[in-house]
Amino acid sequence: MKISLIPIYEDNYVFHFITDDGLSVVVDPGDGQPVIDYLETNGHSLQVILHTHHHWDHINGDDALREKYNCEIWGPEFEIMRIPNMDVLLEDGQNYTLGSHSFKVIHTPGHTRGHICLYFEKDNVLFSGDTMFSLGCGRLFEGTPDDMWNSLKTLRNLPDDTIVYCAHEYTATNAKFWKSIESNHPEVDDILEKIKSQKCTVPTKLSFEKAYNPFLRADDPKLKQALGMVDETEEKVFAHIRHLKDNF
Ligand code: ZN
Ligand code: FE
Repeated sequence: MKISLIPIYEDNYVFHFITDDGLSVVVDPGDGQPVIDYLETNGHSLQVILHTHHHWDHINGDDALREKYNCEIWGPEFEIMRIPNMDVLLEDGQNYTLGSHSFKVIHTPGHTRGHICLYFEKDNVLFSGDTMFSLGCGRLFEGTPDDMWNSLKTLRNLPDDTIVYCAHEYTATNAKFWKSIESNHPEVDDILEKIKSQKCTVPTKLSFEKAYNPFLRADDPKLKQALGMVDETEEKVFAHIRHLKDNF
């Protein structure tokens, strides 16, 4: 599955792919015109819009795309009141087919209550929306730290070679934040430098995130030690890291 990135606004990514049998699909079109421009330039139509959650920077392109292409809108059932005109309500734990591909819906509350991630197991691809970013995680607008920690632990259980398409380019700031809380990590400076030299860091690999993303490592004794929280629970450590990032 070849996935293309369509940058919109300051730091959002919309994703586009074509299934083996020719369905054209976009994920989280937060703006219409840049997506239309991309599709026209590349000679594609549009059949399906997929959504991870209801925020405007992920859904604002729906009306323009629907009007032009008469495409279907698929999104999280828990956000039926927040995302207009959904044709297919995606349920936690269910599998859905798009042409020759299939994906599983993983409910990951925290950023929003109904947030879902879309896992294409055979393609080794995860669309993580605003739940997991490279070296980061989404802000807790509608959930508790415990919600988000549990969501991230669910994603952490996916295979190491999963390719993660997150919806924002926040990696450089996230790397600086990581250094601020774990400056003694032997690889933090090298990774920070490498990221600074890259304009685009998406997609990322789940193995990389498991090894370095501080938000996936609230139970890592080394990170707990760096934070002076050796005896604290992983839930408390996670809440503390999220709190520090909110004020970074
Ligand atoms: Zn969001
Ligand atoms: Fe967003």
